[in-house]
Amino acid sequence: MTAVLERSVRRPIRELPSELISQIAAGEVVERPASVVRELLDNAIDAGATSIAVRLGGGGIRSIAVEDDGHGIAADELAAALRRHATSKIASLAELEGVATMGFRGEALAAIASVAAVALTSRSADAAHAMTIDAQSGEMRAAARAVGTTVEVRELFFNTPARRKFLKSEATELAHCIEAVRRHALVRADLAFAVWHDGKPVARWARASRADRAAELLGAGFVEHSRAVDVDLGGLVIAGRTGTPESARSRADLQYVYVNGRHVRDKLISHAVRAAYDDVLHGGRQPAYLLFIAVVPERVDVNVHPAKVEVRFRDSREVHEAVRKAVSAALASAPGAPATQERSVPAAAGALQPAAWQGTLRWPERSGGGSALHVGEPPAPPWRTGAPSEAPTRIGASANADPRGAASARDSAEWPLGRALAQVGGAFVLAENADGLVIVDMHAAH
Ligand code: ADP
Ligand code: MG
Repeated sequence: MTAVLERSVRRPIRELPSELISQIAAGEVVERPASVVRELLDNAIDAGATSIAVRLGGGGIRSIAVEDDGHGIAADELAAALRRHATSKIASLAELEGVATMGFRGEALAAIASVAAVALTSRSADAAHAMTIDAQSGEMRAAARAVGTTVEVRELFFNTPARRKFLKSEATELAHCIEAVRRHALVRADLAFAVWHDGKPVARWARASRADRAAELLGAGFVEHSRAVDVDLGGLVIAGRTGTPESARSRADLQYVYVNGRHVRDKLISHAVRAAYDDVLHGGRQPAYLLFIAVVPERVDVNVHPAKVEVRFRDSREVHEAVRKAVSAALASAPGAPATQERSVPAAAGALQPAAWQGTLRWPERSGGGSALHVGEPPAPPWRTGAPSEAPTRIGASANADPRGAASARDSAEWPLGRALAQVGGAFVLAENADGLVIVDMHAAH
């Protein structure tokens, strides 16, 4: 009642206190302990760390400490690191558009410090010793540690009880924290990670190759029952592994996509992957995949989501098409063959040069010329070269339809390889054309 009355009363416009601004901003970035873990890992990676330790207490709700051996922070910049909109990573709009670091907004540490107790301890290479700053009091004192940084976060949401109530059990929050580390560990196999909880070791991943790290984190079964994805289009590189249709799962729990080293949940990419499985995967089965996409930074906007879990591609249709084709090609490849090679996708996008993009992706032109891609429509099989409007007929459906009508004759003229009916043995497709059933080698069809 009072709330309703208050809302209708006109109140003067005032600027919010800076503490409240930070807490509001924190709401977008820090949802739970795992968000803190993610931000601190991003910072450690940006600092060039080779080894990162994550120590959690009480599921991460009570405490989170992330310790790295990166380049550290100079003592006279410790206070600035905690300020809102203070960053060492970009200095101009041009740099924002070409950003190759995980962070760039300069808000994570400030946001975390507004909803938790934070202590930042760091030592840069030229410093005689480390310094610790207490975020709340701003107090600094000398400390002992090697070159690198430790960020300690205690009692998350202690001052925002309403938000603390949204947290789940310690076990659930711990699981989310570990998942956050796994996501970083999957893409940065070149770094060592260790996780402790309540003083006990939980996980330790030594430096490894991408393939070994993937096997360690996702299981040898995933590697065994997946095909290598490996496409380099100059300004766009797609690599990783995609599961065989037979190894599809009932849950979408083994689907990892990285764009320029950052774990994302991108609808465009998941749709493109799904489209590649359209003819070989039925019902609600979910493919397993681990995809690393590297794109020239200028071609992707990472500044569209507070937690950066979504991105926007400038050439979204081309990216969709490229991902779909890359996954299709992988599915059509022979099992063991490509598994031996491992493309080194740049972890950050800095290694990709805009010049290499050459304005557009260099996919071979399709003979039908109909290269336009309509997101949301069922994809055409790769050997279909025209721009027909109907979807391929499947076994069962064709029994009721007119099997040898005019449409069928036109099909055989337009698509000499016929219409896909089913995938056989991974690399072959059972198709139907005017002559009857044919087996198409998908590799050759490409
Ligand atoms: P952002 O990462 O967007 O720059 P943050 O609030 O996460 O913003 O960090 C602010 C700044 O503090 C960074 O730009 C960086 O200079 C410094 N910093 C934070 N964490 C570390 C770290 N682990 N090692 C070295 N410098 C760090
Ligand atoms: Mg950061």
